[in-house]
Amino acid sequence: MATKATNRGTCQWCGRVQMLPNGRLAKHGYTTKWGFFSGVCRGSGELPLEVSCDLVKQSIVWAGKTHADTLDSVALERASRDRVVMASLYLSGSWNQRGGYTWTSVEVVGYDRIHGAVVVDAATKVRVVGDRDGYAHCDAMYHLETVTLDDAAASLHHRYADYLQAKADQIAGYIAHQTRTVQVWEPRPLFPLK
Ligand SMILES: [Zn+2]
Repeated sequence: MATKATNRGTCQWCGRVQMLPNGRLAKHGYTTKWGFFSGVCRGSGELPLEVSCDLVKQSIVWAGKTHADTLDSVALERASRDRVVMASLYLSGSWNQRGGYTWTSVEVVGYDRIHGAVVVDAATKVRVVGDRDGYAHCDAMYHLETVTLDDAAASLHHRYADYLQAKADQIAGYIAHQTRTVQVWEPRPLFPLK
């Protein structure tokens, strides 16, 4: 039978302080502190940092691999002129979802000097409606007299590469933080419930 939490403890994966039913971290989402996580935190159901740092060590291994994979993607994006590319597009909301910018796979099908690349959603082949109306910016192109679709696509690949590079930098910060945590780790008392 599940016992009620009598203490709170710190998540080894994300650093959040949570209830400890049966001595383990309650299920929780990621904080926005590190920027690159999404979904349910992998520290859910695990021992708190006050008791163990084994999961912190695992998080460093995971983040190291993720960091390397992300840098590989950055290099690929910088070299690519593929017409299908990830672009940050404004997608209009629906009754249960707010509109907003999101990275979406698109295909470059045109270019105009006012708006940049003209794209369609690669999955549905429907012209993206939004910012608004299916234009993804590739502003490096404005001064050029003629812009090929390959150039427009390359510009979008560079934008996505910049986004991935920023993510890689966040992951590097996380690795440094988790590494320090392991270096100074020692058992500590749990937080009492308020
Ligand atoms: Zn967590």
